[in-house]
Amino acid sequence: MHNLSEILSGPGRSIAIAGHVHPDGDCIGSCVGLLLYIEENYPQHRAAVFLEETKGALLFLTEGRGIRSAVPEGMQFDQLILCDVSSPDRIGVCPELLAAVEDTVSIDHHISNPGICRINHIEPEASSCSEVLAGLMDAERISPEAAEALYTGIVHDSGVFQYGSTSPRTMRTAAMLMEKGIPFSRIIQESFFARSFAESRALGFVLSRAELSGGGLLAVGSITAAEMQEIGAGLPDLDGIAAQLRLIRGTEAAAFFYETAPGSVKVSLRSTNYLNVSELAGRFGGGGHVRAAGCTLSGTVEEAKAALVPVLLDALSEGGAPAL
Ligand code: 5GP
Ligand code: MN
Repeated sequence: MHNLSEILSGPGRSIAIAGHVHPDGDCIGSCVGLLLYIEENYPQHRAAVFLEETKGALLFLTEGRGIRSAVPEGMQFDQLILCDVSSPDRIGVCPELLAAVEDTVSIDHHISNPGICRINHIEPEASSCSEVLAGLMDAERISPEAAEALYTGIVHDSGVFQYGSTSPRTMRTAAMLMEKGIPFSRIIQESFFARSFAESRALGFVLSRAELSGGGLLAVGSITAAEMQEIGAGLPDLDGIAAQLRLIRGTEAAAFFYETAPGSVKVSLRSTNYLNVSELAGRFGGGGHVRAAGCTLSGTVEEAKAALVPVLLDALSEGGAPAL
């Protein structure tokens, strides 16, 4: 696909746009950016976005947009467009639509995406799904509101233009969106850097107990459900902790373990230069990107650490799992 017109032209139809479970800035920015682009340029269609509840810092993107958290009984769609979704089990609120809708499209940047739709447009080198989408849009037809959503997505998935996935094209795309007159400083400060008190306490808790291993190459942090309750934090307050662990000087990788339900532990993996964490997460049923990936293990936090940390240390001692 070279342009979204290849999938959006034609007679009016109903389009469902959906993102991944636990939607982040890129996922929400992609879905909302695409929704606005369709509403503003293809008024013959009826589009709706399906996303799980949005956390506070990103509400400015979703409020007033009619985002749905469930598919109403009897509602049917002619087309399904998945944004930032790497596998069928990662679709947020409407996984059933993948089989029910005939015309399915995946727009993504996950290297682990095997191509789950009829049309698959995956650019693993892109910083974000929002960057991929912006590249498929006609720049002059992107409104300031759509630009704000896509810019937010790029900012979040590139760590404010910091991660290795940031390219000259990322910067050119951001510049094009900036020229629409968006409040870029406020977007970066309020949606990316600002932390609630609960998020700050959770970060402090995990960092204060973090451990280094592998000669300082690996930082490991964790939090149990009981500990979260003790400090007044919940699961949505844990975003960004894995990235902070990775900032410890000298580390190549970080693993953050957190209890999502009794007997279920989510692991967020990050790396800096060479460790392919997507491949490692894949060995445990997860996936993601080369430098940011995740998986879910069963058991306690300590059992999950015992299963995964030796594998990470092995990969690190070998100089990293095969990179891109
Ligand atoms: P996070 O650690 O922030 O939850 O996720 C980092 C990246 O890994 C995201 O791009 C996310 O899509 C991916 N990821 C996280 N957990 C899983 C998982 O369980 N399965 C798959 N396939 N990808 C995951
Ligand atoms: Mn993304």
